[in-house]
Amino acid sequence: MKPPETRKITSMANPEIKKIRSLSLRKYREEYGLFVTEGLWHALEAVEAGWDFETILIEESGRDKEQVRRLLDLCAEQGCSILEVTPSIMESITKRDNAQTVLAVLKQKWRDLSAMKPEAGTVWLALEEIRDPGNLGTLMRTCDATGVRGIVLIGNTCDPYSSEAIRASMGSFPRIMLIRCERAAFISYARESGFQTVGTHLRADRDYRKASYETPLALVMGAEQAGLSDELAAACKHLVKIPMRGKADSLNVSVAAAIMLYEICRESLEM
Ligand code: SAM
Repeated sequence: MKPPETRKITSMANPEIKKIRSLSLRKYREEYGLFVTEGLWHALEAVEAGWDFETILIEESGRDKEQVRRLLDLCAEQGCSILEVTPSIMESITKRDNAQTVLAVLKQKWRDLSAMKPEAGTVWLALEEIRDPGNLGTLMRTCDATGVRGIVLIGNTCDPYSSEAIRASMGSFPRIMLIRCERAAFISYARESGFQTVGTHLRADRDYRKASYETPLALVMGAEQAGLSDELAAACKHLVKIPMRGKADSLNVSVAAAIMLYEICRESLEM
């Protein structure tokens, strides 16, 4: 096969590079519906999971030439642009020294609540007003590891397509569906579609190990500072708590979610 066509860019003032650099801001990620993922392996995971690529940036001196060629061949079918750039352009986009030698600009994917299909065995994670992108990326990774279908972002949350969240997901983001909605819409959809909603709450009196978990299930977690709102807590079928010793008043939300998901998915996870 003929090698895909590559354009060389050396100037930071190039309009395509300026547009990609602007994606460090949420405003422009939302305006263009795009985001950046760093590294060859994460880009390969995304293309294999069927994501749409807009641009791939490669550094001429980069390693893993065969795998880079594989990525370019897979993406060439989508008609995405391939730019060969300098290390300083890569560093200016990622705002990191020693940036990765492959970056990809991908199209964001958002689904509606109807993507939450009420099928047996299905588990979703619902996060209310989560603010920390590092937590959100870690949660995507844990969802991938436990076979959770997707994440519902309720209300005003941080951006799952920020570089911090995508980095923290460590290549798991392509396998996690994302929905964003208002609290009332989530509550009525979960009720009507028959999802069992399990909320995690510091004021719950049920030990999470004593609850029974039936699928389809939505695990509902609160924000880092505010916790679960009263309205969402009241709408959950069960509220559970992870017992704690010591003086910590709560666990980090991604730690609490990991404990819960391993309990809920216990039967379906095998070595
Ligand atoms: N000050 C907040 C509050 O009062 O809920 C703390 C929020 S906590 C850092 C973030 C979320 O993690 C909580 O809303 C809850 O969903 C979950 N969480 C953390 N520790 C938990 C625990 N021990 N039991 C149940 N859920 C917990």
